[in-house]
Amino acid sequence: MKNRTPEEGLTALTDDAERNRLLAEMAEQSTDMISRHTPEDWLFIYASPAVTHLLGYTVEEIVGISAYDLYHPDDVEDFRLRAPTVSYDRGLYTHTYRFRCKDGHYIWLESTSRTIRDPETNDIREILVVSRDATHRIMADKASRRLARVLESTQDLVIFANLDFTVSHLNEAARKALEMECTDYSSFPLSWLVTEKGLATLMDEGFPAAEETGSWRGELTMQNLNASRIPVMLELLAHRSLHGDIEYFSLVAHDLTEKKAAEDQLKQYQAEIDHASRLVTMGELASSLAHELNQPLSAMVNYLRGIERRFADKSTLSWSDVELPITRSIRTALRAGEIIHRMMDFTRKQEPVVTRLNLPDLIGEMINFCESTAERHNVSVVFEPDLNLPEVKGDRVQLEQVVLNLIVNAVEASASTDREDAAIVHVRVVPHESGQLRVEVEDQGRGISEVDMSRLFDRFFSTKETGLGMGLAISRSLVENLGGELWAENLHTGGARFSFTLNIAD
Ligand code: ADP
Repeated sequence: MKNRTPEEGLTALTDDAERNRLLAEMAEQSTDMISRHTPEDWLFIYASPAVTHLLGYTVEEIVGISAYDLYHPDDVEDFRLRAPTVSYDRGLYTHTYRFRCKDGHYIWLESTSRTIRDPETNDIREILVVSRDATHRIMADKASRRLARVLESTQDLVIFANLDFTVSHLNEAARKALEMECTDYSSFPLSWLVTEKGLATLMDEGFPAAEETGSWRGELTMQNLNASRIPVMLELLAHRSLHGDIEYFSLVAHDLTEKKAAEDQLKQYQAEIDHASRLVTMGELASSLAHELNQPLSAMVNYLRGIERRFADKSTLSWSDVELPITRSIRTALRAGEIIHRMMDFTRKQEPVVTRLNLPDLIGEMINFCESTAERHNVSVVFEPDLNLPEVKGDRVQLEQVVLNLIVNAVEASASTDREDAAIVHVRVVPHESGQLRVEVEDQGRGISEVDMSRLFDRFFSTKETGLGMGLAISRSLVENLGGELWAENLHTGGARFSFTLNIAD
């Protein structure tokens, strides 16, 4: 503080003088810059010491410089137009503009100016200005305006929610998708914008997790007021104040409608390919099956002819005369029916249903089913099931498809060698890693070349003349969908082994 001269001490006795002194002192101490300017060309008549901190000039340096020389060129005109007629007449005028520092860079200043007039002539005597650095605020404003623009133009649905789970703001995408363009959504309950199940997920998982860790991410279904549904991937954020209390939530929802539609379409294609592949497998087995059906049919004809002959010999017949051929033909007809049913089951198009399955039973049935094909190729399929194995999880038709593919491939591979004696295909089910069983199909073919090994599971890879090359690709994806794996390896003894794993049912 400056020492007062005796004169100063005297004037301090008057209220006015004391007030002026205090004001001057405050101006000296203030971090805001206080300056006085000439009315015409805005020369600095005075600047408080804050000028050094703010602009880099010393007080002595700035006095005598015109403020116009330091305005940003883009702001000068604007400033000139407003000054002094527009605002100074009203006494106070606040505005924000760029001002050049001593080192040449610009900062934003927010200044409030007041004109001091001569009480007698009412002419403007000088202008008193209080300025502060507004760079921080302007930058923050700019950043939040930029963010707001991004928020409005993003395709994702952005929703702000209050702590009572009412909506406070929706961005344009959200207003459009939720058909709220003409609706007043302030204080609108968030619960109206999600399905009942989605709301339960948010309340039980989402909000508690966001409150604890700051954010939560999950899939759920939103809905508009007409109950049209929108599947979304949702990011939920809890926003806290400086004191740490949660102030509001934001929800950013990415519309998954198209992705889901594409996934559904893919699933449908996959189902159609699976079905087509089963039809092809059945086609491959058809001639053997026709042969197999032919046998019971001829047997039945023989039994019936036998009955016919007995009628021709005797005019009256007792039940005991015909019981045997009749029961035999019934049994044979039932067996033929079973073959037809299995064919129909296998080729029917149906939704997969995962159930508990007894793997040895299923494999046994598939071996019976393709027995005639194996016989035709002079191959015998050997399976010694361990009856104490647990059940596995899977869809019956899909697993039949996998097992049949591997056995038919093994039979064909074994038959392709020019051996004289019957080749053997071994099928085994053994415990694998914990919680899984492994099925192995081993053949006595030529094995798989190194080149073929790398593309064996590619779609449409086939070395067979009439092969479709889909069997292994489909089998692998079916097994993987059930949480297992399917792989191939060559045996030291020649031939190949295909193995796959399946999860044991709980
Ligand atoms: P496809 O039987 O229609 O050719 P797959 O996908 O079932 O289609 O099999 C693809 C190819 O893998 C076969 O063409 C064959 O070259 C090879 N392959 C499959 N199983 C065996 C096997 N047990 N031994 C040798 N090669 C095999």
